[in-house]
Amino acid sequence: MREKILRILEDYDTQDLHIGTIGSHSALNILRGAKDEGFKTICICREREKAVYENFGVADEFLIVNDYTDLLDDKLQEELREKSTILIPHGSFNAYIGKFDDLLLPIFGNRELMVWETDREKQREWLERAGVRMPRRYDRPEDIEGLTIVKYPGAKGGKGYFIVSDASEFYEVSESMVKSGLISREDVKNAELQQYILGTNIYFSFFYSPVYGRIELIAIDRRYESTADALGKVPAKEQLKADINPTYTVIGNFPVVLRESLLVQAFEAANSIVEVSKEIAYPGMVGAFCIESIFDENATMYVFEISARIVAGTNVGIPSSPYSYILFGENIYMGRRIAREVRVAVEKGMLEELIY
Ligand code: ATP
Repeated sequence: MREKILRILEDYDTQDLHIGTIGSHSALNILRGAKDEGFKTICICREREKAVYENFGVADEFLIVNDYTDLLDDKLQEELREKSTILIPHGSFNAYIGKFDDLLLPIFGNRELMVWETDREKQREWLERAGVRMPRRYDRPEDIEGLTIVKYPGAKGGKGYFIVSDASEFYEVSESMVKSGLISREDVKNAELQQYILGTNIYFSFFYSPVYGRIELIAIDRRYESTADALGKVPAKEQLKADINPTYTVIGNFPVVLRESLLVQAFEAANSIVEVSKEIAYPGMVGAFCIESIFDENATMYVFEISARIVAGTNVGIPSSPYSYILFGENIYMGRRIAREVRVAVEKGMLEELIY
């Protein structure tokens, strides 16, 4: 597959590249960044979302689709190839496209790692090989010790996750969720039981630069999650009466500046995650990735998820985050950092190292 994509890239006019993405998730960030670095931009979106991207003036061209899966359409891909378009993938690519086999366009990043991140087992294997500390996983409900978060395969954005503290509670809540149609019996069998880490959620947006051969910290954020962040507003006795469960649908993000002494844990994790990425999916990590973590009461970092692409939380770092400013001394944010890498790689004749 990589060979196929590199052959497509050979026909590209590197002096007239376009940067394209799907109009959603972090497209404002990506497209604005591309323009700041002098690229022409293409926004692939539905008629409804077009108004937003038009309003912000970040797209030089629009390709209107009925559905994001139309990106797999041959004619549309041909049009993008003719314009020497490099696609910048984000969360909506995982959510709406999923399989990348039919996407015959150069992607900035490593499409194979994007498959690793969406498969829970593969993701755990990656993180375990990297030796990062993760929440414990219980194989059976009977093994549960203490607060445990129950995750379902199909749950999007943490909707339907719940917290229990023993096996009987697990069966009780699962049964009532099956009865109310929220989950299926199959879901219950496939649920992941994970030690619940009581602490502070911290999301690190890193960038691995093949051009400079280094890991860069671009921004840090935390999420603003629907009912999980609303629970504190309701008195405990009312919570009990209303039988409220936290859901983790992400509504927005806040910027975070971390206690400086804690950065070392994040860089150690980032280093080993990048090292292992090279072993599991050649050529390894390229560009944006996010380490999603929780720091407990001892300020110990637990990694519970990883994304091998730009995450929406990095939007808090436009036009600059404290970290990207310290590193670059100018306004750099993830979308711009990606475009800068493409630009410098073209100058150095290294573009194929960023593409898969
Ligand atoms: P997304 O794909 O949007 O990241 P998801 O469905 O993969 O969501 P997670 O990110 O795994 O869900 O978890 C959703 C939320 O649940 C997290 O933001 C975090 O607040 C909480 N959470 C997940 N795992 C744990 C854990 N082990 N301990 C404590 N909280 C957790």
